[in-house]
Order: sequence, then structure tokens, then C-alpha cells
Amino acid sequence: MSIAALIVAAGRGTRMGIGLPKQYRALAGKPVLRRTVEALRADSRIKHIMCVIHVDDHALYEECMGEDFSLIHYPVTGGATRQASVLAGLEALAAFNPDHVLIHDGARPFLSTDLLDNIIDGLQTHQAILPALQVVDTLQRVDDNQLCLTTVPREGLWRAQTPQAFQFESILAAHRTVEGQDLTDDVAVARATGMQVTVVEGSESNFKLTTEVDFIRGEIMLSKLMETRTGSGFDVHQLVAGDHVTLCGIKIPHSHSLSGHSDADVAMHALTDALLGAIGDGDIGAHFPPTDPQWKGAASHIFLEHARDLIAKKHGRIVHIDLTIICEEPKVGPHREAMRANLAHLLSLELDRVSVKATTTEQLGFTGRKEGIAAQAIASVELPASVRGL
Ligand code: MG
Repeated sequence: MSIAALIVAAGRGTRMGIGLPKQYRALAGKPVLRRTVEALRADSRIKHIMCVIHVDDHALYEECMGEDFSLIHYPVTGGATRQASVLAGLEALAAFNPDHVLIHDGARPFLSTDLLDNIIDGLQTHQAILPALQVVDTLQRVDDNQLCLTTVPREGLWRAQTPQAFQFESILAAHRTVEGQDLTDDVAVARATGMQVTVVEGSESNFKLTTEVDFIRGEIMLSKLMETRTGSGFDVHQLVAGDHVTLCGIKIPHSHSLSGHSDADVAMHALTDALLGAIGDGDIGAHFPPTDPQWKGAASHIFLEHARDLIAKKHGRIVHIDLTIICEEPKVGPHREAMRANLAHLLSLELDRVSVKATTTEQLGFTGRKEGIAAQAIASVELPASVRGL
């Protein structure tokens, strides 16, 4: 069974009354539409994904999707109505000859695995599937003066969601038949041509981002879906003849210097490895090979900033860093606050999220003999957890 997904994202978001169409607004650091696409892309049963976008939004779309997006076809430009947009998308998807299509709102990013399972399972035995929720509130018909007229029985009333799922040829034919009308969803199109549509249980979390409150609700849901990762780092550099050491980017006059390919800032190296460890992205040597001449004498804040940027790219957040510098000399204490301030500045962290500690090894071992300086670090990083299975 070949399944395609058509994401309708051609609306202007006029109901929100703000500049940017809501499907391109950031939700916890990532555009809504990209979240929607990622939810569908994570399902290996869906072989093709296509978005229908507004004619003015091609630049916004490209910015939203970024690079390296497999399964996503070039977007289709929508029409004057939702119905016209869906028809344009279906005509474009016809080139891939899918058996079934899921037609989904671009502003519903919280699409769970369970809901997709229910919908796709339903397609095995039914022509068309609508995820929907039974109305539980009492319904009142109200006049223009906000006076209640009648209580509307809620029995048999359901709230329609998306993705609405169809046999591809049937829904394409239905859309062609009713072309030019302005039906509000694809179930209405299907029903207008006599198709049977079966309801499966929708999901409360699969709501459409429409109002400001919806965005706040979405942000809260995502914040509860952050997971905390911990990374550790360790580094050693040798002390050789010289006149200063650099620790946490602070130049400290000393009778010796640290030797290394870069500026040998052992503390920043341990910290960089801790950050890379938290996101499972190798170590400092993998990102900045010591054999590469361009890093000779390099200031180590470059390495730290690279790790910081990798975390930001994953929409993560550094929660806390804790660094221990292990040496007999120089004394770290007088420089501790300058080190913390520099790290806090480089990582855009509040000062109380940055800890720098120092210890000796009681004159034991290589650090005790002042042959080198060691540093170890722990970093806590929050990363977005997958919304699948929500
Ligand atoms: Mg090092």
C-alpha cells in the first residue's frame, strides 16, 4: 500500500490577525509547518509528502524546511480556496500514483503514532477515514444579541480533525467533480460524490493551532516534552616552558605554558566535549582534527561556540555546566569569576548556570608534579523529545 501525505498550508492565518501566516510561526523554536512535516516524515509507511502553499510563501517555505529533507516534494502553489488548493495538490501527487492519501492541515503538528495507526489501519477496510472527537459540551444555538435560543442535542455530533484519509483515485475524482465549490473539508467533498466516510477516534492533542491560546498550549506541551541529557568531558595538557596559561579563555600569567595544537585551553576542551557528549555528537577531535593545520594556535572559544551552535541547531538548550580544573598551579581562585563570566557570555547562560571549580591532587600524580593540567566537565542539555507517541 503506497501512502502519500498532502499538507494544506496555503492559508494566510487571517484569523490570528498577525503578520506571519501561523503555519510559519515558530513553536518552541521550530516552525509549525516543519513540525507537521516531521511528524508525517517519521512514519515509514508514508512514501511521499507534498505541501500546498500560498503563492507568496515560497521563500518562507524554503526557510522553514531548511536543507536535507527527504520525501518532501517541491511544494505546489495553492488556489483561492482550501478546496482549490487540495485539488492542485492531488493533481501534482497523481504523478507518483499513490494508493492512498492523507490530507492534513499544516497547522496540526501534534500528530501521534497512535492516531496515524488508527487512520492507516482503517484504510485497509474502508473507503475513507475521518479522525474525529465526540462533542462533549452542551451546544446552544444563540441569536445575534447573544440570547440562547435552543439547546442543540449533541448526540451524533463529532468534531472533525485531519488527516482525512482516502483512496487516492476516488478523492481525486471527487475533487474534480465538485471543482469550483467551496466545501470546508475533504470529507464534505467525498460525501458530495456519495463516498462512504468512516470515523475513527481522533486525539485531543491533535488540535489545530488557530488562536494565541493554542500557541501557548502548544509551547507548554512541547516544554513538557523536553528531555534532559548529560554529557561529560575530560582533557589533559602538558605544562612546558612559557609565561602564561589560558583557562576558560582567561590568560593567566604563569611560569609555564600549556602545550597543544590549539591554545591548549584544557578547561574549554573538557567543556566542549561535555556539550558534544550531551547531544551524542562525537568529540572535539572529530570536529577539529589536531592534524588540521587551520586549528594550530586556534582560540578554543571557536570549539566551544561550535558545540553551542550544534545544540541550538537541534533546538536544544544548555541547562547547566560544571567544570573542575585540576592543578597545583596557577591558583584558579583569583580568576574563577572572570572564567565563569566568560563562559556564561560565550554560551548565553545566566551566571548561576555556570560553575567553575578547582582542586589539587595533593601533589600526587602528574598534576601534583606540575607536569600538566587536567580538567573535567559535566553539561546538562535539554533537547526536544519526539512528539511521536504523544
Ligand atoms: Mg585538549
